[in-house]
Formats: sequence, C-alpha cells, structure tokens
Amino acid sequence: VSGLNSIQVLKKHNLRNTPFRLQVADVFVNAEAAITLKEIEKKLKDFDRITLYRTLKSFEQQGVIHKIASTGEPKYALCQDKCEEDHHHHDHIHFHCDSCAKTFCVDVDSLPGIKLPENYSMKELEIIVKGTCSKCNN
Ligand SMILES: [Zn+2]
Ligand SMILES: [Zn+2]
Ligand SMILES: [Zn+2]
Repeated sequence: VSGLNSIQVLKKHNLRNTPFRLQVADVFVNAEAAITLKEIEKKLKDFDRITLYRTLKSFEQQGVIHKIASTGEPKYALCQDKCEEDHHHHDHIHFHCDSCAKTFCVDVDSLPGIKLPENYSMKELEIIVKGTCSKCNN
C-alpha cells in the first residue's frame, strides 16, 4: 500500500534489519490482502515460531502492521504511512469479501463519528464492511 520495499519499511519504523525481519516484511509488502498467521508461515522458508511471534509483535508496536481481529481468524496487514511507534492512525475500513474470503484495507472518504456515553474512552475503531470485492464483482 505504501509503495516502499521491505528495507525502507523497516528503516522508516526504526527497526534494525535482520534477514528474518526482511523476509517477514516482504510477505506483507507483496500481499494483496490481509493475511493470517498460517498464510505468513506458508510463505516463510525456515523459521522459528517464537521468533515469528516476536517479529509480528514488534512490527505491530512499531506501526508496521496492524491486526484485524473481527473476521474470525486474526489477519495482519501492512499499515499506511501515518503509523508510528505505539501509535496507529487509521482512516480506512476493513472490507471482507464473502465470495473470496479475503479482507482488504480500503480507504474511505469519511468514517462515521461515534459518540460514546460518558466515561467511555475509545482507543481504536475498527469498521468491518462485508460484501463482494471489486475482483469478485467483475
Ligand atoms: Zn497502523
Ligand atoms: Zn472477493
Ligand atoms: Zn487495515
């Protein structure tokens, strides 16, 4: 989405580049939709599961990727340019296609404003739209 390659992605988010981190970043840079942990594992050659979990955790903390939790199995997607350490800025929605079962990050003009009752504070707003994606509609 950002048009950066995996080396640039790591650099931008102050992550030291290791061969493994580059491999994982590559998976995200080349993914056309959000991916599950299983799909990430399938694309990696040699890996240790603990290292993979740690890598995903630090990617998430540094604003490289975000987790999409509300479509069944958790999926991960590359963040856009605005995300930084401990701070994700998302103005996109997640579109889940019923036909191909893929989840996409989709930019929209505006997000609905949510007015919460007193003493509730919002940390994050995740919007899932379900339907048919542009590929499946063609
Ligand atoms: Zn983000
Ligand atoms: Zn589709
Ligand atoms: Zn997203």
